Amino acid sequence: MVSLGLENQVILVTGGNQGIGATIVAFLQELGAKVAYTDIKISESSSGALAIQADVTDLASMEAAAAQIADTLGPVYGIVANAGITRDNFFTKLEPADWDAVINVNLKGVANTIKPFLPGMYERGAGAIVGISSISGERGNVGQTNYAATKAGVIGLMKSLAREAARYNVRANAVAPGFIDTEMTRIIPEKVREKITAEIPLRRFGKPEEIAWAVAFLLSPIASSFITGEVLRVNGAHHT
Ligand code: NDP
Repeated sequence: MVSLGLENQVILVTGGNQGIGATIVAFLQELGAKVAYTDIKISESSSGALAIQADVTDLASMEAAAAQIADTLGPVYGIVANAGITRDNFFTKLEPADWDAVINVNLKGVANTIKPFLPGMYERGAGAIVGISSISGERGNVGQTNYAATKAGVIGLMKSLAREAARYNVRANAVAPGFIDTEMTRIIPEKVREKITAEIPLRRFGKPEEIAWAVAFLLSPIASSFITGEVLRVNGAHHT
């Protein structure tokens, strides 16, 4: 039987309480991984994954989460830096607080998530990191100068980390989703949604499961063992 090799691997997903993150958590569990997830708030869940309330903007909070995961599940092999927020507005209307919030969660939060785990991964000579970027980070988007800047930043972070970490057999890649059906995109007005859908060659928004497949592939020590520093677009050819 073919396997992605994720059985019993310990994997952390941030922002795993809902949306794409929750789907990734469930999917990795189906693949046999031991999954922990963090989120700013945790709902009652029967998923069986280790759920930890932790804020990605706070390094101490992520260090505490890392210690709890190691104690409970063992050494971490994989990280999915998924937590992200939007504070959309035209550039001229964006308040400094909108910049700070988005940069703190989407960019600094990714660094805070990865940092506590790297020494262990380097020591063990094994690890895979996936940062969730966005189509906005590659092609830009009206009303998302702050968000797009952070998502482009995630790509730069992953590409640089890939070069630094390669000697330790630790890989770092990004997944860049297009428009995906989650809470984040449900706020898009119907008219705008129709316009966006018409621009997508596959003529629909993506499903969270379609991101989970891409993430699992990039985490796999078998399927993607020679892939690092890459950006995998999952966007129905909205941007190629
Ligand atoms: P959701 O808003 O549904 O989920 C994001 C999760 O992250 C929420 O549970 C949220 O909690 C949590 N979160 C927010 N701030 C923090 C924090 N400081 N610390 C820990 N967790 C936090 O978003 P999606 O599932 O749609 O998006 C997941 C990722 O995919 C994000 O990085 C997003 O930018 C990216 N993406 C999404 C696309 C889409 O179309 N949906 C397209 C491209 C990229 P709370 O709800 O309480 O704020």
